[in-house]
Parts: sequence; structure tokens; C-alpha cells
Amino acid sequence: MRPARARIDLDALRHNYALTRQRHGSRTLAVIKANAYGHGAIECARALEEIAEGFAVAIVEEAVQLRESGIRAPILVLEGVFDAEDLALATRHGLWLVVHQEAQLRMLEEEHHPDGLKLDVWLKLNSGMNRAGFEPSSYRGAWERLRACRGIGEIVLMTHLAQADEPDSAATTRQIALFDTATSGIPGARSIANSAGVLSWTAARRDWGRPGIALYGADPMPDEANALRPVMTLESEIVGVREIAAGAAIGYGARFIAERPTRVGLVAMGYADGYPRSAPDGTPVFVHGVRTRLIGKVSMDMLTVDLTAAPTAGIGSPVELWGTNVSVNEVAQGAGTIAYELLCNVKRVRLVYQ
Ligand SMILES: *Cc1c(COP(=O)(O)O)cnc(C)c1O
Repeated sequence: MRPARARIDLDALRHNYALTRQRHGSRTLAVIKANAYGHGAIECARALEEIAEGFAVAIVEEAVQLRESGIRAPILVLEGVFDAEDLALATRHGLWLVVHQEAQLRMLEEEHHPDGLKLDVWLKLNSGMNRAGFEPSSYRGAWERLRACRGIGEIVLMTHLAQADEPDSAATTRQIALFDTATSGIPGARSIANSAGVLSWTAARRDWGRPGIALYGADPMPDEANALRPVMTLESEIVGVREIAAGAAIGYGARFIAERPTRVGLVAMGYADGYPRSAPDGTPVFVHGVRTRLIGKVSMDMLTVDLTAAPTAGIGSPVELWGTNVSVNEVAQGAGTIAYELLCNVKRVRLVYQ
């Protein structure tokens, strides 16, 4: 069997949840949207069930899948519903719904026919991200209309931060202040902080935290020492070795040309597995206990590494693409993207839980 796999350390996941929850100091939803950022939503939910106060996903289908796997904890749907069918599913499965725009509010007014079941909703304020959420001027009105709906239970007041991963961003301070002004005097629990908010903005801490990326051990602010543990190790093996002469090229487009005679290792991992094709020559790869580098363009199913620094490496030697020795943040930075995208792009490889 092809040796490519992603090992998922569920203890590290629990450690990271406990750390973010302790940092936030109040109830904390574990964000497991997009298949838990590529880590497997059902397995991650089961691993966190005993300690997490609830979960958050993006869409109703993700929440239903968790319910059908036996997850009974609260599940918040961050994008809310798209139509009456979503709303019926949400009611039937006891989901919590974000309401971020007029059409969703109208759906609740017109289509929500509860039979005794109360639907809890999170009313979202646009505090500056200008993506989703009610404007400050219409927020209280939206809250009053929700309050008047039949079958609505608790209403949590929420917003989302756009720049919390930038230290001392004035924008974050403005967003928090705007949230406090717009929600002033409205009863109900509050929620502002994503991972970056939980980890570095004490001013963003409220009744509910919503960390995602930090749970998977990819620190949104890698320069801070937050003691998060990487959850995913993307790994494979050397499946071929060759020596090339100085001046010889490797792979598509002959991007890499050897400066000197070079031992090249072929690794069973490619962009069809989610390893980024945009990774440049020099991207760190951990091979047989040493950090070496990617050389040559990443192919669909394979990539090539420099074995000069690992003379004892050969066929069958272990390769870590990211994990504890090479952080996913490092690879993302080199590839011009973010850890979020790399993690949730992982596919085709087996997920192995430990
Ligand atoms: C995805 C998401 C989060 C989690 O964000 P991270 O940066 O991964 O911690 C929190 N809140 C909302 C509304 C989201 O969409």
C-alpha cells in the first residue's frame, strides 16, 4: 500500500482544546468545520465530546453528519441556513443557527413552525469585516424581531474578528468596541474570539470562545510560544533514490538544476494529496531524522527531496511533510498560503488516528 498518510494525534487535539479553553476562561465551542480542518470531523468530535461544551461547523449538512454519528453536544452552524429545508433539519436536529442576514431572519419569521422545540440562534453583527452580519444600526431591530419569533430560545450575540492574528491591530480594538456599543443593553451571552482572539486578545474574551485552527496546533501567531501541539503529521516514505550530476534538472519545467552531484529521494506525496504545488525549492522536509529540502516542482502524486544531508536515507525511509519537525505554518508560508488551506486540502491519504 502506498505509504502516504496523515497521522492524527487526538491527545494533542484534547491538549489544544484544554489550552484554548483555559486561556479563554469560559465556555468554548470547538470549531470542526470543513471536516475538522482536514482532520476528520467525526473522529475529532468523538475525541473532544467529553471535554468540549459544543462544536461549530459551517453548514447544516456537516452538523447532520455529526448528529447521525451520535454526537449529542450542541452544534452551532456558522453560515446559518440557506433555505427552508435547512431550517427544518436544524430544528429536527436541535442545531444552533447563526443568523447573519435579513433573508435568514425572514425565514425564521415565516418558515419556522416549531412543535415545542426551541431553536437557539446566534445573531451576528458586522463589526468591520464587511462579510456577514447585521449592521450596527439594524442590530437591535434584528434582535427584537428574533425575540418576537415563535419557538426561538436563547439568542447569543456574536461578531467575528478580521485581523486578530495581527498583534496590536487597531482594527481589532475598534471591532470589539463597536460590538460592545451595538450590543449594549441587549441581554444574552456574547461571543467574539476565534483562535487568535482567544490566544492573544484578552479584550475579546466573552461568554463563548470559538477557536478552530489552534485546536489543530497551527498557531495563528507562530511567533508567540503558545504551547500548542501539532495534531496532524503528514507523512510518507522515500520510494526511489537516484544520483544526478551537477547541471542536471529535476521534474516538470526543470525548475531545479543541481549545483553539484546530488542524491535525490522520490517521495510518495503530491498535490493530489494536498501538498501544495506552489511549494518552492528549499521548502523544509524532514527525512530520516534530518531536515532537508524540497527540490523540483511538486507533481500530482510525487515530489523530490535532496538527500545530500541524509546519506543513510534510502527506500523506505520515513518522510514528514509537516508535523512536529516541520511546522505546517512553515510550509504554508513558503507556499504563499496559510496553514488553514493546507490542512483542509489534505485528501486521498489515509487518516490514521492515535
Ligand atoms: C472558522 C470560524 C472560526 C474559527 O476560526 P479560527 O481562526 O480557525 O480559530 C470562528 N468563528 C467563525 C465565525 C468562523 O467562521
